[in-house]
Amino acid sequence: MSNSSTLKLATENAVAMGLLMYTSQNDLIPAPFSLYPSNYPSAAFQQAYALAPSFNQLLTTVIADTEFFNAVITQIASADEFTAKLYECYQQTTSEQQLNLALVRTDYMLQAQNELRQIEINTISSAFACLATKTTELHNYLGITLNNAALNLPKNSAKTGFVNSLALAWQYYADSEALILFIVQAHERNNVDQYLLQQQLFSEHGIRVLRCSLENFANVVKFDSGTSNLHARSNNKKIAVVYFRAAYTPADYPTANAWEARTIIEQSNAIKCPNLAWQLVGTKKMQQCLAASDIVEKFMPEPNQAQAIRACFAGLYALDVEIIANVRLNPEQFVLKPQREGGGNNLYGNQMLQALDVMPRAEYNAWILMERIYAPDSQNVLVRHQDATAEAIEVVSELGVYASCFNNGSEIIENKAVGHLLRTKPVYAEEGGIVAGLAVLDSPNLI
Ligand code: ADP
Ligand code: MG
Repeated sequence: MSNSSTLKLATENAVAMGLLMYTSQNDLIPAPFSLYPSNYPSAAFQQAYALAPSFNQLLTTVIADTEFFNAVITQIASADEFTAKLYECYQQTTSEQQLNLALVRTDYMLQAQNELRQIEINTISSAFACLATKTTELHNYLGITLNNAALNLPKNSAKTGFVNSLALAWQYYADSEALILFIVQAHERNNVDQYLLQQQLFSEHGIRVLRCSLENFANVVKFDSGTSNLHARSNNKKIAVVYFRAAYTPADYPTANAWEARTIIEQSNAIKCPNLAWQLVGTKKMQQCLAASDIVEKFMPEPNQAQAIRACFAGLYALDVEIIANVRLNPEQFVLKPQREGGGNNLYGNQMLQALDVMPRAEYNAWILMERIYAPDSQNVLVRHQDATAEAIEVVSELGVYASCFNNGSEIIENKAVGHLLRTKPVYAEEGGIVAGLAVLDSPNLI
């Protein structure tokens, strides 16, 4: 079959499966995907799955150590206004709800062909669980249809994993009439990824979902300060779980209303996915602090587990005179990252050097420096209907592993890896976001 007939077949099936996303011009079209799955080393893939519960356990322990946790977050808050406001909200609220659900995704790139290096851990609003599942299904279906017997695509349960964990949290709230509230962005382009979760929550568990932005929260939900319950204004039903697909970036808080909404949600007895402690423990500064000597070992008393975690850390550095001098000598070996989420914020090469030249010391704690990873390249065809392109080019991939952690304070109730995402981008692209950048959805073919 020629590339163009494979492309047509792939596109029609992507649409048939709901592998769809809005463009920046507001057209709902196939999400960007790779025409073929990309080869990925099986051992590194298994290792990433095995690490997921350990990372959840590590973060749970870190949150419980309020002295360490507060010391790190205070450093960021002193330099970054957004983190300062989140932290203020965390400190002001006193909810009795100890149950928390984290639906996380840890992202990795490969160094030296097959060594896993953690890029970051997303503890709020990890996207693409459903579209990643659909991409695996698409590649699997095309492989079988095109009679490609050589494929070894691991099962991807990200969608079902997220749905079942949200349903588990909902069950703990113990009100069969209660709803789940999705906090979404006002101009979300990835709605289909969210609606696929909503559909399965309803079809498999009979759970109904309400949606609103933080800004619009007060029009949709009311807070009963006597009971700390959240209720839907439309039918007075209680909100069992608040699932955040927004609230991680300053743009999600356009006015004081949005901050007020975040505070009310945190204060309420709804189960948060996640609460503010889990959002804050996912900061890049925290990642850098956990990589300092003996810290992981302190929090993970089991030496094998600590060692496995440490083995996937890239170089991570707080800004100081010494490291900045090193960056000036070897800029190609570093990435400068601000305390922001959502892609498109990191600085590389000359832009990084220029930023460091003018950065006041008071801002140092709002950034980290990270060793730059150069992943092994391969060939693929990146299909982007938005630009009407299907380019056969040199690409690199970034693996994400989804995991759920349902906990009652420091007691873990459920902790497991549930699925994966492979994002693939041209070798020349610096950033790997799908909504923001040049990356496409892919799936790993294990070798
Ligand atoms: P964000 O929270 O904005 O998603 P990330 O840390 O995931 O921030 O960085 C965004 C993208 O930048 C990643 O998906 C990856 O493509 C690239 N990137 C991040 N860190 C590194 C690194 N150390 N080496 C090479 N590329 C990186
Ligand atoms: Mg990222």
